[in-house]
Amino acid sequence: MKVLGIESSCDETGVAVYDTALNGPDALRAHAVYSQIALHAQYGGVVPELASRDHVRKTLPLIRQTLAEAGIGVDEIDAVAYTAGPGLVGALMVGAGVARSMAWALDVPAIGVHHMEGHLLAPLMDVDPPEPPFVALLVSGGHTQLVAVDRIGQYRLLGETLDDAAGEAFDKTAKLMGLPYPGGPQLAKLAENGTPGAFKFARPMTDRPGLDFSFSGLKTQVLLAWRASDQSEQTMADIARGFEDAVVETLAIKCGRALDEAGCDTLIVAGGVGANKRLRARLQEMAHKRGGRVCFPPPALCTDNGAMIAFAGALRLQAGQRNDNDAIAVTPRWDMATLPAV
Ligand code: ATP
Ligand code: MG
Ligand code: FE
Repeated sequence: MKVLGIESSCDETGVAVYDTALNGPDALRAHAVYSQIALHAQYGGVVPELASRDHVRKTLPLIRQTLAEAGIGVDEIDAVAYTAGPGLVGALMVGAGVARSMAWALDVPAIGVHHMEGHLLAPLMDVDPPEPPFVALLVSGGHTQLVAVDRIGQYRLLGETLDDAAGEAFDKTAKLMGLPYPGGPQLAKLAENGTPGAFKFARPMTDRPGLDFSFSGLKTQVLLAWRASDQSEQTMADIARGFEDAVVETLAIKCGRALDEAGCDTLIVAGGVGANKRLRARLQEMAHKRGGRVCFPPPALCTDNGAMIAFAGALRLQAGQRNDNDAIAVTPRWDMATLPAV
């Protein structure tokens, strides 16, 4: 089954074709992402109405481009998967409208996918995917969650952030040091030249039991350190390194606890911050020590993309689920725990 996936929940238009007849990375016949970052950068964040309009402009050209790259005709598509939430309502409606219209015109099934389930399942697009039970760490621009996955589609929230998400903390910290939006990846790049230990920030909420996170205080600590510093290039790198180490260590400590609590040794990591090199290395080291396993998507599939939507949609379609008889609706706020099992 060749599934066309369409992602439009925020400021990235993502399109992909996932072929369930193939395995591992080969199954991803093609994928393309158009990022609206340049459009929103001047406002310092995503402007919802501009995002919707840009999805309108980009979705169809990107579908044509992706099908051409996959070398398949539109009539060879067997199903269409689209992000149905959570996200920006206007942006979601664009993807849902295009997806449902295409499915109707082609007379194939359509399935609405939960964006965070898409992120969560992305590490399973692997030649040797781990099998549940496992723990998932979701670290994106809008979410920081630890989720126990007893089986695909059945998600139990173990802990989450009480304020900023990990990606949001990266972006806000970058911004206060004058880096352009979204500064997360640039902050990580700067941190590579930073001296470990030159700045030491707290590991929030690790001094007490529990699996929740809080990153907003860390940002304030960085602000105070930045204001009191000489603000040189090296200092910026040192602070970036101190911040990154604090986030990475906090995430690693909580992942260890979550694995203990869930009674398993397999961790999967997804969402934009999952592309962070130091996080990847630190969690590998932890998994190695425990004699367990940690799985990440390739960095390009950590941030928003259509591949994860095509893949998650394919799993649900294979389980007989479909939405093409329902009204075209999106769910801007949507709890993953309410999803049916696969
Ligand atoms: P959500 O999925 O919660 O709705 P989102 O889709 O905006 O949020 P993603 O696209 O998964 O989030 O990830 C984007 C976030 O990841 C941004 O905050 C960005 O700064 C962060 N990010 C991307 N690469 C890195 C990196 N190498 N190190 C740290 N953060 C990163
Ligand atoms: Mg984005
Ligand atoms: Fe996302």
